[in-house]
Amino acid sequence: MEQNPNYVIWLVRRDLRLENNRTLMSAAETGGTVIPLFVIQETADNGINKKFNNFLLSGLNGLDAELEKLNSGLLVKIGDPVTIISAFSKLLRAPVFVEEDYSPPFLELMKQLNPLVELKVIRGLTIFHPSEVTRDSNHAFKVYSQFRKKWESLPRPKVPITDLKAIRFVHRKAFDSDTRHPKTTTLVTGAKKAKELFHKFLSSEGKLLNYGSKRSRVDYQTTSHLSPFINLGMISVESIFQEVSTMESDKELKDSERKSINIWLNELIWREFFQASLFHFPESVTTTLRPDLELIEWNSSEKALYSWQEGFTGYPIVDAAMRQLKQEGWIHNRLRMIVASFLVKDLLIDWREGANWFGKHLVDIETAANVGGWQWTAGTGLDAAPYFRVFNPILQGKKFDPKGEYVRTWIPELNRSPDKVIHEPWKTPIQINYLPKTHKTTFPIIDHYEARRNALDSFEKSRSIYKKAEVFLKNIR
Ligand SMILES: Cc1cc2nc3c(=O)[nH]c(=O)nc-3n(C[C@H](O)[C@H](O)[C@H](O)COP(=O)(O)OP(=O)(O)OC[C@H]3O[C@@H](n4cnc5c(N)ncnc54)[C@H](O)[C@@H]3O)c2cc1C
Repeated sequence: MEQNPNYVIWLVRRDLRLENNRTLMSAAETGGTVIPLFVIQETADNGINKKFNNFLLSGLNGLDAELEKLNSGLLVKIGDPVTIISAFSKLLRAPVFVEEDYSPPFLELMKQLNPLVELKVIRGLTIFHPSEVTRDSNHAFKVYSQFRKKWESLPRPKVPITDLKAIRFVHRKAFDSDTRHPKTTTLVTGAKKAKELFHKFLSSEGKLLNYGSKRSRVDYQTTSHLSPFINLGMISVESIFQEVSTMESDKELKDSERKSINIWLNELIWREFFQASLFHFPESVTTTLRPDLELIEWNSSEKALYSWQEGFTGYPIVDAAMRQLKQEGWIHNRLRMIVASFLVKDLLIDWREGANWFGKHLVDIETAANVGGWQWTAGTGLDAAPYFRVFNPILQGKKFDPKGEYVRTWIPELNRSPDKVIHEPWKTPIQINYLPKTHKTTFPIIDHYEARRNALDSFEKSRSIYKKAEVFLKNIR
């Protein structure tokens, strides 16, 4: 690298924060004036996931406001990233520092930029780089417990502390951001909000300390809601892991509280596992990781898919979750598993349809976690739920929303229902069919027990065809 460049570009992508930012620190260490640059790619897809886009835009505004306090700002450009980044880099003779991401679009961007600019790719998305958490022979772990064991055995890198006073940022007046970048959105987000939320989770009503026993309840807030912030790096995953692990060693804690902390930290390791899965198996975005389950004859009924998407299946827990997803862009992990299982097993619709729908509506959409979650629930992924595990939407509702408070919020017609039958409204003394009259389906759309049997037959058929094909291929080789 050229010694002491005059300028250095900090290419912001999924690290929308100043604090604990290894990429920013590495850029500043060159001694050059740091230019924070974000490129919004103009594609036909822009705007498809409005909730995610709004969250991102308000996050960019938040970062810009933080930089403004330092007389600098975030340079936002709209257009083709390769053209814009290489033009800036060439013009200013500036190297480009960027946080590593393991998703296929990032890899493609790096491939195109590599011959054009001096690139420095820095780890920061995960606590360990996926290539560090492997078997001795550098093979990826396919079983979560083994991954976790290795992950926990590695010495954790020191959390980077950004010394903002030591960084020279480009002056705000030195550039113009694209005027098309909207300066106001109603969302309150960004690093400040992420920190507030995190500390509230640690302190208020003992949410973290009760996480072990309460985390699956969907009728009140039991989890941190940090996912959209973590995904865009508004808070550093290294710093939160560090802070919560320090709490774990507090001698005053009850055993159940220590266990809760440990379970929450475990979720962050699951996140690392799915990131590592994407790194090692990028094909998992579109391909089932278990080839013996790639031969399922999926149901292509548009009506069934539409009923699921809109929350018109007749199963309250599924419908409430799908309505919340469409309206708010966030649903609880338990609900994600229930609706995913319902789509794939009860309706026998390809998991990729579900992953796409989540992609259009989740405010925390993130390729590794989304594909990981879908393949896990479908039983087709790494260390997934066994394919024969089918979530029962009635029992799940009774267990995790016992009084039906959650489903009543999203399906007010059920206010009239007694708690006892709220998760099976076709059984109510006065049946409450809350589906729109114009949507002509049976109520509920399918009998869960029959659907379960059909799903298992289809999954087993795929395995059996695959096995026969394997034997055949072995014999003719
Ligand atoms: C079908 C399906 C699709 C999913 N799609 C996404 C997605 O697109 N984006 C996304 O961030 N998460 C996804 N998840 C994982 C999980 O549902 C969310 O991360 C979690 O619900 C976020 O809520 P929280 O921040 O309150 O989590 P908490 O329970 O407070 O957990 C803390 C953090 O740990 C991480 N985490 C927790 N559970 C998981 C998990 N199962 N996998 C990976 N990371 C996890 C998240 O970063 C989360 O913010 C999906 C899960 C399923 C079953």
